[in-house]
Amino acid sequence: MSKVSEETVRNELVESHALLNGHFLLSSGRHSGNYIQCAQLLRFPKKAEIVLSRVAEQIKESGIEITKVCGPAMGAILVSYEMGRLLDKEAIFTERNKTTDAMELRRGFTVSEGDKILIVEDAVTTGKSTMETVKVLEDLGATVVALGCIADRRTTAAVDLPFPMFSAIKLDFPSYAADECPLCKAGAPIVQHGSRKSAGM
Ligand SMILES: [Zn+2]
Repeated sequence: MSKVSEETVRNELVESHALLNGHFLLSSGRHSGNYIQCAQLLRFPKKAEIVLSRVAEQIKESGIEITKVCGPAMGAILVSYEMGRLLDKEAIFTERNKTTDAMELRRGFTVSEGDKILIVEDAVTTGKSTMETVKVLEDLGATVVALGCIADRRTTAAVDLPFPMFSAIKLDFPSYAADECPLCKAGAPIVQHGSRKSAGM
């Protein structure tokens, strides 16, 4: 596959309705004129391949050696699968323990000392679930060598993650407190998307 531009990624996200313009209530309570739901992209395998090949290409160019790909469920399961396919590496995922809410490696998945892990996400905003996944794998003796995601939504205020980050697109969505929202002032109806625990929000 030839090199994929950020513009192509944006077009694929818009075409698949993963990237929306409107007036949205975020799980933080703030309002925004933009919204991304990567699952909308990932329901189309060919589009997912195009978008994530932009990430795979950057990782190959970096020369960083990877032995496994791992992402946190649910949002990153399909991202992990497709990145594993593109890089021809084992693809696994972490998930939350329903009782303790702690992130865990389950289902007989293993990592060991010497494993060099690429952590993947659908969208990275605060990096919280990313760093939880890092800890699970490092506690098991593996080394995290890089991060990959569809949408890098980190703003200047966000965590500076201590690994090289490879993304298909960088997005900076302005958000507003409800009483300062220009879309509210313009009388636009508001829509709530996703769930509170959705990684994309
Ligand atoms: Zn508003």
